[in-house]
Amino acid sequence: APDREELTWELFGQAERELSAQIVASGWMPDLIIAIARGGLIPAGAIGYAIGVKAMGSMNVEFYTGIGETLEEPVILPPLMDASELPGKRVLVVDDVADSGKTLKMVMELLRHQGLDLGGENVQVDARSAVIYRKPRSVFEPDYCWRETDKWINFPWSVLPVITPGSLQG
Ligand code: 5GP
Repeated sequence: APDREELTWELFGQAERELSAQIVASGWMPDLIIAIARGGLIPAGAIGYAIGVKAMGSMNVEFYTGIGETLEEPVILPPLMDASELPGKRVLVVDDVADSGKTLKMVMELLRHQGLDLGGENVQVDARSAVIYRKPRSVFEPDYCWRETDKWINFPWSVLPVITPGSLQG
């Protein structure tokens, strides 16, 4: 079996506290946390509790798989966030890992540079990003990161098989 980075639930508890401490130590406190679904949802919720931020949102981003088998660029899927909440706010974007880094790069460029089209008004957002892991090949440098690895990571929320009616016994 290939060498894996195993994040247990126990270790995740340590990771989210240490990542949260990094954010607080930086002196930049977000008004709003945006989770990149689904991988960033559990880390984002944990960080929200750890730093005392209640305002949460999520953005559904996936790699679009075309007719071919290769992955192309990440795309934002519905349901879409209400972007009218963003102007003038400090926004922390949270994901599980920056691997190729393309997901975070797209979201952060959208928030920071490209701006959000709100009724013709182009608005930029004070946005930073946090991940549990980053891979050395990532094209994007997150502001906050717990650990670096070049291994495939097993996350506790996605390592077990999906529960289906057919998989239930008794
Ligand atoms: P990206 O390549 O855009 O940085 O990462 C896209 C998504 O692919 C991540 O948010 C994550 O859900 C998934 N992914 C990338 N690398 C890994 C990994 O090592 N382990 C797992 N479980 N998922 C990964």
